[in-house]
Amino acid sequence: MLKLLYETPLSLLYPNRCRACGTRTGWSEGFFCGPCGDMVRPYDGPRCGVCGRHFPDGSGSGHTCYDCTKKPPVFEAARAKLAYDGPVREAIRLYKYGRIRKLRSYLGGFMEDGARDWFPDSDVVCAVPLHRRRLRDRGFNQSLFLAESAALAVGARLSLDGLARVRYTAPQVGMGHAERLANVKGAFEVARPGEFAGARVLLVDDVYTTGATVNECARVLMKAGAASVRVLTVARA
Ligand SMILES: [Zn+2]
Ligand SMILES: [Zn+2]
Repeated sequence: MLKLLYETPLSLLYPNRCRACGTRTGWSEGFFCGPCGDMVRPYDGPRCGVCGRHFPDGSGSGHTCYDCTKKPPVFEAARAKLAYDGPVREAIRLYKYGRIRKLRSYLGGFMEDGARDWFPDSDVVCAVPLHRRRLRDRGFNQSLFLAESAALAVGARLSLDGLARVRYTAPQVGMGHAERLANVKGAFEVARPGEFAGARVLLVDDVYTTGATVNECARVLMKAGAASVRVLTVARA
């Protein structure tokens, strides 16, 4: 019996479950069951050349959306790999709070692809930082691991703590764009002057919602002398 236990793959003793709906997936190595896997949608199609927002199908790429024309963001471009809904939303939630190692490599894979596809010339990669109070609650900054995947993929330097969150901000769930803007104003600082001078910075986060947070980070990085700031996220709301 003991021998049998030793030889039994762990997956049989602890069958995989779909990370989104909890259904047993048996031998499958995937994170989602078939039906949930089919709902993972890439965030593709015609998009704003700046913020990456989707245009309705058939409207063509390459032009700038109304919001970016009216008030251009500080960052040069933002891109996301997946649509933030269904199983992707659940995977990111679990990853954020559940510390699931396998999800780290699954989501990291999208960051590798995104960095190679869109921002291969990046010099430095940094994550949107957490305030140390939130870091203490959560134990790790999930975006830092995503940043590491992106940095490794394009041979850029990973800045672990070059960008810091110096003001504690309320969680932004449910806030509109104006509220989010006010919430993040003055929340970030560059830790060491000169670290980003002249660098093409790739800023990484898990989800792009209104862009208020990454734009505020970009503002601080540009003020610190960055040549450009581009934004890569796993998903886009
Ligand atoms: Zn499922
Ligand atoms: Zn736009």
